[in-house]
Amino acid sequence: MLSKEIRNHFPILDQEINGHPLVYLDSAATSQKPQQVIDALTKYYAEDNSNVHRGVHSLGNRATEGYENAREKVREFINAKSTQEIIFMRGATTALNTVAQSYGRANVGEGDEIVITYMEHHSNIIPWQQLAKEKGAVLKYIDLEEDGTLSLDKVRETVTDRTKIVSVMYVSNVLGTMNPIKEIAEIAHANGAVMVVDGAQAAPHLKLDVQKLDCDFLAFSGHKMCGPTGIGVLYGKKELLNQMDPIEFGGEMIDFVGLYDSTWKELPWKFEGGTPIIAGAIGLGAAIDFLREVGLDKIERHEHELAGLAMEKMSEIEGLQIYGPVDPKKRAGIVTFNLEGVHPHDLATVLDMNGIAVRAGHHCAQPLMKWLDVSATARASFYLYNTEDDVDRLVEGLRMAKEYFQ
Ligand code: PLP
Repeated sequence: MLSKEIRNHFPILDQEINGHPLVYLDSAATSQKPQQVIDALTKYYAEDNSNVHRGVHSLGNRATEGYENAREKVREFINAKSTQEIIFMRGATTALNTVAQSYGRANVGEGDEIVITYMEHHSNIIPWQQLAKEKGAVLKYIDLEEDGTLSLDKVRETVTDRTKIVSVMYVSNVLGTMNPIKEIAEIAHANGAVMVVDGAQAAPHLKLDVQKLDCDFLAFSGHKMCGPTGIGVLYGKKELLNQMDPIEFGGEMIDFVGLYDSTWKELPWKFEGGTPIIAGAIGLGAAIDFLREVGLDKIERHEHELAGLAMEKMSEIEGLQIYGPVDPKKRAGIVTFNLEGVHPHDLATVLDMNGIAVRAGHHCAQPLMKWLDVSATARASFYLYNTEDDVDRLVEGLRMAKEYFQ
């Protein structure tokens, strides 16, 4: 387990909710921010704020340096070959939509296939539904195993030589399942398709290496990994990004503008139309520094241990069903559950009365809810600042809720 001291870096955690010390178990929705990130944002606005890439004045140079340094931090964080492959955008949703609208529109035609899975977040479903409808393409789903994992045999059965795009989440935001992305990418490539990875729940918790995974695109959001909201990343292989057209046009992304035609800047800026998310990128850079100082491998281990402990203690509660892989090593720090006879919203409300923040609902994964045959679930998600005490508070809260409703 990581030291409890880590909590002290997160000022928000030091408060009471409804008369109880806050236990924050909703990091899969958004993580809390360490002081280091808050300070980086304050420093940027208090000392360096200016627009980037244009000015010759000192503030402009400092802002540009901060913004581009953050790009290098992201490159290193995911082991991309070049900063030209790192595009800043609003979040995983925007990144996935960009791949669908740029790469997808240019490369998917009538009768072609796009392959996703039943466990995807809406952000990795709807962009492909829209593309399939527009192009007359076929959207195919890889079925899940009973425990909510993916079998490579089923991936092989679903992906064919008509498949142009395979898009899969690395870590499920509901089941916690960690998917075998490298192996799925091999199958995609063997069939001539590109591999898109929704890394929204992976980037905060796992050491990412896009070269080892050999994925073609990777999308993730800063706010789930200790960074600010409003910043995310699209990684793409340079040879693919070079062939792709931007989907947003305006300032910053152009080279030359004539009356009737224009040309674009080189990568990565051709995809960053308008004033970029300067403070967000700088904040994300500070978040990456923080995560690397703690150590991604330690964070991953810590979460496995907490999720394992939570699952063990929660399974002692009669009528409580946990979804997803039973083996905590096969899942990230996400535990999704239902308590028999209690609606997850009521459960979350009672937990909140005890200072415990969990999420309830469909978690932006309605097809998965249908697959699980439930309308909603409750979800506790653990991060580096959670402790064994938080697990105990959750279990105690669940027991109280059970008594309350029965
Ligand atoms: N993909 C997954 C697996 C997620 O959990 C989320 C957010 O919850 C997203 C995509 C979308 O991220 P964002 O809302 O930051 O764009």
